[in-house]
Amino acid sequence: MNALGIVKTAQLGGDVDAYCGKCKETREHVIAALNEKGGISRVQCRTCQSNHLFRERQTRTASPRTTAGTGRKGSAKEIDDSGPLRPYSMKERFNIGDRVEHVKFGIGVVVGVRSEKIDVKFGREMKILLHAG
Ligand SMILES: [Zn+2]
Repeated sequence: MNALGIVKTAQLGGDVDAYCGKCKETREHVIAALNEKGGISRVQCRTCQSNHLFRERQTRTASPRTTAGTGRKGSAKEIDDSGPLRPYSMKERFNIGDRVEHVKFGIGVVVGVRSEKIDVKFGREMKILLHAG
């Protein structure tokens, strides 16, 4: 260990973890050749003895799987029910897609608007409520 924190510099005959194309895995390799910059050029796999160009250890690129748009339940047809949740009041004005919280029926989604009436789906039940259309 030196001041720069470098534990080991590449040197011929040294060990290095590298991806082996034959083993299809990261294996321990012996450094077989160095390039002009002092980096590792060729390595020999300790497992299968194959001599190949040095490739950096394969880093698994963590790609977070986006579940957006796939996990949607087939409820309320094509109505986008991701709108804000608002308490139901007949003095309020609602639009299709709004989520309403009704004191009696619970949480529903507005699936239809007809002037002063709204069709709200509470689970499997459809209710017609008044609003300030
Ligand atoms: Zn190998």
